[in-house]
Amino acid sequence: MERVSELRENYLEVERRVADACKRAGRDRGEVTLIAVSKTKPLEDILVVSDFGQKTFGENRVQEVLSKIADTPKDRDIKWHLIGHLQTNKVRQIVGKTELIHSVDSFKLAEMIDKESEKLGICTDILMEINIGSEESKFGVSYEAAGELARRIGRLSHVRLMGLMTVAPIVSDPSDARPFFRRMKELFVDINSKNYDNVSMSVLSMGMSSDFEVAIEEGATMVRVGTGIFGERVYNT
Ligand SMILES: *Cc1c(COP(=O)(O)O)cnc(C)c1O
Repeated sequence: MERVSELRENYLEVERRVADACKRAGRDRGEVTLIAVSKTKPLEDILVVSDFGQKTFGENRVQEVLSKIADTPKDRDIKWHLIGHLQTNKVRQIVGKTELIHSVDSFKLAEMIDKESEKLGICTDILMEINIGSEESKFGVSYEAAGELARRIGRLSHVRLMGLMTVAPIVSDPSDARPFFRRMKELFVDINSKNYDNVSMSVLSMGMSSDFEVAIEEGATMVRVGTGIFGERVYNT
């Protein structure tokens, strides 16, 4: 019971901060989708947060999301997003299971998702992950290479490129992330203006627990919040 109250308090607080950031930015609350990032957290927590009305959950590991999907009662209206790095050898397992894959960062990966989708007779919605801070430690396409990759992905008939995603550099003051988010928005608008076939820039996935308000102010349409809702993660080693 205590856990339920804790989750409710966290969730309402995040929801309030999302709404306030939208208001500050002169945006409608409906323009921003909150993704509850449930990695490492038990299914019980997910079902509790789903009871509060949360529809979309983000996971970063294929194995973990598949086992959670398998264990989720069928009458639950839950959508799953893969937000973490996807290895090409896991593509077959994940295609068809998620509403959106946020982390496509190469043509090869897009092509494999396309092939698997074709086999299933579906079209898979994807985002292209951008390494906006040009960080050695991060996955993602460079700002410079993004336009050309979008154009190539657009030629694939069983994936649909819906937008861009980024994990901004870790900064001590959230407002220091603002220039990175602003640059993402510029790229988003720029690629959109090219009108590539089969490419629609409608989703801009950026902002996490530490910086989602700044991301919303700079144009995010999806924010991915884990710790803010579920509390700190504990990794077993
Ligand atoms: C874990 C994770 C998040 C959520 O991080 P928090 O800081 O806990 O909100 C968001 N996006 C990605 C890609 C992640 O892996």
